Amino acid sequence: MRAQRVFVSGHRGMVGTALLRRLTALGYEHLITASHRKLDLLDQCAVSAFFAATRIDQVYLAAAKVGGIHANDTYPADFIYDNLMIEANVIQAAHRAGTQKLLFLGSSCIYPKHAPQPMEESALLSGPLEPTNEPYAVAKIAGIKLCESFNRQYGRDYRSVMPTNLYGPHDNFHAENSHVIPALLRRFHEAKQNAETEVIVWGTGTPRREFLHVDDMAAACVHVMELSPEVYRAHTQPMLSHINVGAGVDCTIRELAETIARVTGFQGRVTFNASMPDGTPRKLLDVSRLKALGWEARIDLEEGLRQSYAWFLDHQEQLR
Ligand code: GDP
Repeated sequence: MRAQRVFVSGHRGMVGTALLRRLTALGYEHLITASHRKLDLLDQCAVSAFFAATRIDQVYLAAAKVGGIHANDTYPADFIYDNLMIEANVIQAAHRAGTQKLLFLGSSCIYPKHAPQPMEESALLSGPLEPTNEPYAVAKIAGIKLCESFNRQYGRDYRSVMPTNLYGPHDNFHAENSHVIPALLRRFHEAKQNAETEVIVWGTGTPRREFLHVDDMAAACVHVMELSPEVYRAHTQPMLSHINVGAGVDCTIRELAETIARVTGFQGRVTFNASMPDGTPRKLLDVSRLKALGWEARIDLEEGLRQSYAWFLDHQEQLR
């Protein structure tokens, strides 16, 4: 398995870089990447040509257009179009080139807004989605269905994992378009630097979210990819083939903000701006499928936040 030629798409993103670190640490020697300049994943001809010219045994489909609640609400067309095209192009080109194994990375926002918590894989397509990220979620659901359809029609071994909210090194620390953890790490840090007395957090503080460190995510991805086809099939169904990847615990946004205040050393007041959207009330994954397959998260939230804050401090100058 570890002698195989592995293409990591999206290798400059937070998940892609973590995957490269993990695969390298495990002794994978033939890691293939393609810069955006060399390969535009939105360009079907270019993607087909790349696969035709490169021998690839396995693909980690980590390339995606991602963003937080505000970015999803502001750029819905980009979120649905880019993600559909990336998935369709890569999956189809991989199949045509004869690549047998692929891991598609989705998101926990594929589940209905009011899915019973914790959310089992079977909650997929059982109710209406959260409107703020529906276009993105529809694209990610299409990715799962692409994999399952190529498996059913052509006997491919294309698997899917659905991570909860991820954070860690190489996160997007943009003030408005990022997810809650990098946004708050940066806001609390800047408030401390500027000796401000108050930090404003979006929404009511009551939504609950589950967070997973990206190194745990990368470890889970390789674990799932390395399972034998028999074991993967025994724990999934042909048309319900995705696997949740989460920490198994969640917290309120208020609790998260308090932890981030502690991690960054901000000692002022935390207030909430309820005119900003809360999004879905709770998003906790049921991770029993993954547990039964022998994997559990290891990195505790506060420890992960400290590590992520240290990375932010070291990279402030080069941040996107
Ligand atoms: P979501 O899980 O798709 O809703 O993704 P986000 O990470 O963008 O938001 C999670 C929750 O954190 C939502 O309830 C947001 O309203 C809340 N939140 C609080 N402050 C911020 C912030 O500064 N940025 C973001 N993105 N979310 C925030």
